Amino acid sequence: MTLNPNSIEARDVAYHLHSYTNARRHEETGPIVIESGEGMYVTDTDGNRYIEAMAGLWSVAVGFGEKRLADAASRQMQKLNFYHTFTQKSHTPAIELAEKLVAMAPVKMSKAYFTNSGSEANDTMIKLVRYRSNALGQPEKKKIISRIKGYHGVTLASASLTGLPNNHRSFDLPMEGILHTTCPHYWREGHEGESEEEFASRCAADLEAMIQAEGPETIAAFIGEPVMGAGGVIVPPKIYWAKIQAVLKKYDILLVADEVICGFGRTGQMFGCQTYGIEPDIMTVSKALSSSYLPISALLINDRVYQPVADQSSEIGTFGHGYTASGHPVAAAVALENLAIIEERRLVEHAAELAPYFQDALGSLADHPLVGEVRGVGLIGAIELVTDKKAKVAMQPAGAMAAKAFGLIQANGVITRAIGDCLAFCPPLIVEKEHVDTIVDATRKGLDELLTTI
Ligand code: PLP
Repeated sequence: MTLNPNSIEARDVAYHLHSYTNARRHEETGPIVIESGEGMYVTDTDGNRYIEAMAGLWSVAVGFGEKRLADAASRQMQKLNFYHTFTQKSHTPAIELAEKLVAMAPVKMSKAYFTNSGSEANDTMIKLVRYRSNALGQPEKKKIISRIKGYHGVTLASASLTGLPNNHRSFDLPMEGILHTTCPHYWREGHEGESEEEFASRCAADLEAMIQAEGPETIAAFIGEPVMGAGGVIVPPKIYWAKIQAVLKKYDILLVADEVICGFGRTGQMFGCQTYGIEPDIMTVSKALSSSYLPISALLINDRVYQPVADQSSEIGTFGHGYTASGHPVAAAVALENLAIIEERRLVEHAAELAPYFQDALGSLADHPLVGEVRGVGLIGAIELVTDKKAKVAMQPAGAMAAKAFGLIQANGVITRAIGDCLAFCPPLIVEKEHVDTIVDATRKGLDELLTTI
């Protein structure tokens, strides 16, 4: 395709290196340039309107174009556009948001620490965990266990936590001291004749074997998303988290819940931890915290983490960590308004009410010849594509089918996300039944079109 050299698309190709993009393919095809958004929809510069069935990047909970959030940003920007939170300075939006998050947490938390992205939150988590172990006189207790297909970000350290090959390849990652245990995907990883519960027990046994092999005194923390998102929406067996937590308790290992996708309603409760009975020591949140209107993220830490960290900062003279924009007043004001909207409009309750309809509608795709598994919980789901349902294998190269299906569905007016051989769905929490119908109809149509090419 030849792009008009003065077009916005050609300028993008000329000047912009994109995230998660094949740069050479991008040079050939150029971008879709999104110009505006309203509610469930975004519109591109050619005037095509799409349902955003991924809420942007799993994040725009209250929908696009919410005027209250624009007004909250404008008000705060006019009052105090920026101030920092270093050296005992503070400001009301950060204080109010910290108070609100600690109050909302599903378990007793002590403090909120602000960062600007999910990656930074998880990166900061690693630093806090190290700092704490040193404070406790356990300098050998530094390793962190994550999971294959877990997604925790892209900084050097958080990409190391991420358990996906493309986040490691050619970046010389993962770094030392980060380990990956079994992915709790029963449909793919379960053995012949093994029940879901037996599979969950095996996941916990694998974790315990890893802890034993490494030396329990060397393991500081375990991190997991209640439901894995960017690894392909992997919903663990119901009993999985109880079994994992029993192992962590036995060896005095901190539990970190990465709520960056699950937090603020996605699974039908305020936090994924509530859906799965998870009692974390640290939670990381972002995305739906501000509906991604502005970048902001946070860690919530309990006293097991805060107290030794506070002692150590006193010993050293300072907690030598912080981002210029930590707790940025405009981002914090937008997050507060966003949380107020989620509560006033009862979006978490709405997610719970609509979840059965959403899951059934996605489930109806299971009869399609190219669909191997449909999975999900609350308002998040995925279909895994195969060419042979019984052998659970997809067309080679891996990911080719989902990439094609994604394009066909997008041409039918619905934006999903291709992850490996899966297509993910994670609509804004304001989604209604008619949007679900459109999403599923467009998906079926796209899959039918794909079938004719195979
Ligand atoms: N953790 C989870 C569960 C995520 O899904 C993501 C991003 O998708 C991250 C962390 C990283 O967040 P960010 O892209 O804001 O760095």
